[in-house]
Amino acid sequence: MASCSVEHDGRGPLRSEHAQRAVSCGQLFRSVRASIEPNQSQEPHPAVERDDRFNTTHRIALLVTPTITKIETTEFAYELEDQGPTPDGFHMVYEPGGSFTRHLFGVRVYTDEGVTGEYVGGNSPGMAQINQFADFLVGKNPLDRERHWSEIKRAMRKYDRMGIGPIDIALWDFAGRYHDAPIHELLGTYRERIPAYASTYFGDRNGGLDSPEAYADFAAECLDMGYPGFKIHPWGGQWRDTDEVIETVHAVGERVGDEMELMLDPACQLETFGDALRVGKACDEQDFFWYEDPYRDGGISQHSHRKLRQQLKTPILQTEHVRGLEPLTDFIAAEATDFVRADPEYDGGITGAIKRARVAEGFGLDVEFHAPGPAQRQCLAAIRNTNYYEMALVGPKTSNTTPPIYACDYDDQLGSIDDEGTVGIQDGPGLGVRYDWDFIEENKTGRRIYN
Ligand SMILES: [Mg+2]
Repeated sequence: MASCSVEHDGRGPLRSEHAQRAVSCGQLFRSVRASIEPNQSQEPHPAVERDDRFNTTHRIALLVTPTITKIETTEFAYELEDQGPTPDGFHMVYEPGGSFTRHLFGVRVYTDEGVTGEYVGGNSPGMAQINQFADFLVGKNPLDRERHWSEIKRAMRKYDRMGIGPIDIALWDFAGRYHDAPIHELLGTYRERIPAYASTYFGDRNGGLDSPEAYADFAAECLDMGYPGFKIHPWGGQWRDTDEVIETVHAVGERVGDEMELMLDPACQLETFGDALRVGKACDEQDFFWYEDPYRDGGISQHSHRKLRQQLKTPILQTEHVRGLEPLTDFIAAEATDFVRADPEYDGGITGAIKRARVAEGFGLDVEFHAPGPAQRQCLAAIRNTNYYEMALVGPKTSNTTPPIYACDYDDQLGSIDDEGTVGIQDGPGLGVRYDWDFIEENKTGRRIYN
């Protein structure tokens, strides 16, 4: 049955306890609003709660509140061809004839409305956190995202809170499907397309991105495809060589620097602040657009990155590894970065990523989203202060690591841009993608159900 509440124009919703506890009637969201003029001589309608503070038009809302009935996480595995690990095992790189097994997770939030929120992504540590808070969500209203975010943030205060991401994204997907609107429309649409930069695989020694010239050749290829930007992920582990990184910055800069915006992301591989400075000065010479996570502090030292900024003219992009909204804000306030990083999966879902974007906006800075994906596109569509979509990881001889999980035409491959170098935003409800759950089921390696 539907329940009733009274909302007062201009003062925000004053939803009654009764409405909050409303029982679903098993249909999609229905809201009936009517305006009446207060009439003291007439008995109020049973659905109307009089509030004498407002001698104005009252708005009546008949609400059906949905309820989460079950949360399901499915671990699955898939093979990546022509890829293999770096010697230290921490990165996937091009390896002809190689094969690499990757594990991912599918999250489904079921409700009594027959509408399910879905997201595929995440990692094992995040799923371990979901294991701690999923039961809390069962029985709750999936639309109360902000309240759930706050409660789970407190509950997960001992940890990095990366488990919030996949669940929050699934709740946003639910909201979009429930309201029959793409997420960007619920957030407030700013754009329909966004330029992408080609973000490379890490360097290899196997005939792919195995030399400064190989990076320059691939940058030229990406320029021909229409990419307006190119980001270098250089070599890591035992293949690390600071001088070779500097050579690569110059090789790419001299080949395409007049025609593309260039970025460098050593992903914290450089071992010293001195190396970070040396490589940064090469970026200065080649007029790079940004320099990201250079060295071994792990990308989290406010002091060192403020010092680095004082020595370089190339803008710094930090905070990919700064977890939490308050530490991020402190990092910006300490003048330790020029660009701000956000990732819906890392940063508490779409709720958390949008908070980071608005913090950046408040400081007059731009937020650059990490990694590709449907959640990233939905966020970017609703943000003014951003420049690029990260098409990662791409290389000249192997496809992206994106799993074959879409039952629609969505993808994130090197060729997924238009002639202008942009990607579009999905306009279907929720995330705007359809997942191939048959594929996920066929490749299932584990499952947890919370109900
Ligand atoms: Mg990075």
